[in-house]
Amino acid sequence: MKGILLVNHFYQSRGLSALCGRLEEEAAALGVVLERRTAAAFLTPLGAPLAPDFDFVLFWDKDILLARRFEAAGLPVLNTADAIALCDDKGASALAFEKQGLAMPKTLLAPFTYSPVGYTDTDFVKTAVAALGLPVVIKELFGSFGAQVYLARSLKEAEATVQAISPRPFLMQEFIAASVGRDIRVNVVGERVIAAMERRGREGDFRSNIAAGGSGTPVRLSPEAEALALGAVKAVGADFAGVDLLLGEGGTPLLCEINSNPHFIGSERYCGANIAKEIITHIIQKVRKTL
Ligand code: ADP
Repeated sequence: MKGILLVNHFYQSRGLSALCGRLEEEAAALGVVLERRTAAAFLTPLGAPLAPDFDFVLFWDKDILLARRFEAAGLPVLNTADAIALCDDKGASALAFEKQGLAMPKTLLAPFTYSPVGYTDTDFVKTAVAALGLPVVIKELFGSFGAQVYLARSLKEAEATVQAISPRPFLMQEFIAASVGRDIRVNVVGERVIAAMERRGREGDFRSNIAAGGSGTPVRLSPEAEALALGAVKAVGADFAGVDLLLGEGGTPLLCEINSNPHFIGSERYCGANIAKEIITHIIQKVRKTL
């Protein structure tokens, strides 16, 4: 079996190359050839054959149009283009969670604006703050590693944040104070939880991302938390994902977000799990059914 490991053409980091190295190592151990490529290798005109020598694409990018091209060419793509699109956009994932009645913090979607126009009137921020209270969390719809997530302690700060991120789309969310600086990262492959860890943020940071300086400890999930994480993965139709849960009053789990390209090196390190092997094994099983 031979697959493509599709990564972004422009973005490189030590973390990403370690993660790709893990996937390639486990693929080789399972007898799968995994060749790393970027979108630049597929600059063929639409309608021309695309990657005829490969059996699948492990899609570690958010280039949804390219993922759709592979699918149209008949290749199994994991995660699928639809799953990646739902996970990539925090507004779209929140709607998918809402549709399934999954527990999450109270969330409002900002009105859409056009890029040369921006948020010329921020009265709606006042309405949102009245509904969600203060402090309030503001999240750009597209962002990772906690870098596009902000905490506003006053209406003035919320309006200033909105002006600073204008014209990018965003949502506003109730701040889950009980979860400050910590959350639970659940790694799911297929329909199984492979690893779960509590992440603690850097001192003084409300975000708990390891990429933002946090650390992790393995945890046992409550049945409620496990059902919520598996429900989120099902809601977006992902083959594998990293689900982040916040802990509300009394430890009630709430969905924070879902990642279709989870940075799983931290979970492997802190939980001693072999997530790369689980992903490759899942792909082998799924692709075998199509061959
Ligand atoms: P990213 O995709 O950038 O990681 P998240 O939505 O996961 O963005 O937010 C980053 C971190 O911020 C979360 O892991 C969590 O620790 C914290 N956080 C996010 N939303 C809330 C919230 N509503 N209340 C409290 N903390 C939050």
